[in-house]
Amino acid sequence: MEAATAATAAMVWFRKGLRVHDNPALDAARRGAGRLYPVFVLDPRYLRPDPAAASLGSARAGVARVRFLLQSLSDLDARLRRLGSRLLLVRARDDVGDAVCAALKDWNIGKLCFESDTEPYALSRDKKVTDFAMASGIEVFTPVSHTLFDPAEIIKKNGGRPPLTYQSFISIAGEPPEPVMEEYSELPPVGDTGEYELLPVPTVEELGYGDISQEEIPPFRGGETEALRRMKESLKNKEWVAKFEKPKGDPSAFLKPATTVLSPYLKFGCLSSRYFYHCIQNVYRSVRNHTKPPVSLAGQLLWRDFFYTVSFGTPNFDQMKGNNICKQIPWIGNEELFVAWRDGRTGYPWIDAIMIQLRKCGWMHHLARHSVACFLTRGDLFIHWEKGRDVFERLLIDSDWAINNGNWLWLSCSSFFYQYHRIYSPITFGKKYDPDGNYIRHFIPMLKGTSGTTFQHQYELSSEVKMVHHETASKECRKRMGEAYASSRLDGNPIEGKPSNVSRRKMSHGDQDASSPSIAKLLKRSS
Ligand code: FAD
Repeated sequence: MEAATAATAAMVWFRKGLRVHDNPALDAARRGAGRLYPVFVLDPRYLRPDPAAASLGSARAGVARVRFLLQSLSDLDARLRRLGSRLLLVRARDDVGDAVCAALKDWNIGKLCFESDTEPYALSRDKKVTDFAMASGIEVFTPVSHTLFDPAEIIKKNGGRPPLTYQSFISIAGEPPEPVMEEYSELPPVGDTGEYELLPVPTVEELGYGDISQEEIPPFRGGETEALRRMKESLKNKEWVAKFEKPKGDPSAFLKPATTVLSPYLKFGCLSSRYFYHCIQNVYRSVRNHTKPPVSLAGQLLWRDFFYTVSFGTPNFDQMKGNNICKQIPWIGNEELFVAWRDGRTGYPWIDAIMIQLRKCGWMHHLARHSVACFLTRGDLFIHWEKGRDVFERLLIDSDWAINNGNWLWLSCSSFFYQYHRIYSPITFGKKYDPDGNYIRHFIPMLKGTSGTTFQHQYELSSEVKMVHHETASKECRKRMGEAYASSRLDGNPIEGKPSNVSRRKMSHGDQDASSPSIAKLLKRSS
């Protein structure tokens, strides 16, 4: 084995941040390095097949997201190879931290660079590796580059607590740093890996999830190349960017989605959020007028950072118990109803089609996510948001710990948003966007090939198998939410600026959507 000296060998450890552009960890690792080890470790926590799972995949990731990850790794490898390097894929037997520590030692690494990550799992994994590296005299550099801002900095500026409204977040955040856009002509050569078994990027079939031949292949391909293409395509239409206004847009548009579908690329870091933000600003500079946060396209990226910041500064953010920004609500655990919701068998075509789209494509429009999250929790079934969160977490290709939990807290009126009497109707909301039933017919096998064009007709086809009666169920949910809000269990819940007895008119929270005028109108019509 060629002796790589500590002074010349650097490792860039990819986890998220699966890109070459705007990658400060890669940039720092390559500087002055005689040998560069670009490493990704396959993590059994996310990849190990789980035959008992509700659909094919691992316990934590459905096949669609695993495929997206593998495509992203192949693309990263190809892009590194064009620069004279390559991705070194290592399989962890169990603990990823252990695998990285072993490689640091075996390859005599002098400098380790990886992107900072604020998820609890990542924090403990990274601490283990950092402690080992420091104790071994290895230089460690962990830049913040997954988000626009550094969540720790924002919390510090806010007096040690995360800002709990979008507006307060914006007023503290300011402008994000510019992306690092240096173009490389080559990277340092890859160091000798000795006895290590380096794997080619496996196919999803090789990971052993069983017969995936019947699985639909989602229309979104992973990787930086596709991310940059998709972003450029979205931003080409300057008028669309300038007028972008969430929550306007058709949630039933599945052939040409109403939003960018860049979320999976941002999740895996195939696209840098700072570069995306920077490119949006360039479009804004070239037009006369444009929409503003929270509804604008740039405003969506700020929502992302908002949830990252709150999640980083809130203990037990991903659960109700012990989470001091989460209302304590006595949810009911009805397994039969939950499974029907999860599997798209509620009998409400709008709800079922969305859940089937989730399973098949791993992505749905924001308002579609609203509909099914509201239905599961405070709208109809009164089932715990954590159960719905788990299903989304496993099946979404853009599954993101901070954003997913944040939005489930929001939709279930457990935090951030408290207008629980505003409920999406699973009938009229769908009817509004899918009057001809094209969306539901596409996703619900039973309705495929049925004649009749109106949504109403499609709805009636399945009305006898409805799991719950919406009018009755939603009335009961409102009653339960009212009782929970009024109960003493909510006292002392330190939600910023929140009166303890929440009244509709008094609400003044950071308005993501449901309290913005347009969504309020939509909800009024639907409920
Ligand atoms: P665009 O409208 O094009 O927005 C651009 C980017 O802004 C997105 O890619 C995303 O990174 C960010 N963004 C947009 N909306 C939000 C939002 N409400 N909160 C935070 N960031 C946002 N998004 C995820 O990325 N991962 C999740 O796991 C996730 N879970 C959700 C769960 C529920 C119950 C709900 C209601 C929403 C969830 N979202 C999640 C937020 C949102 O629905 C998606 O980010 C969005 O639909 C992705 O599509 P897009 O890329 O076309 O978004």
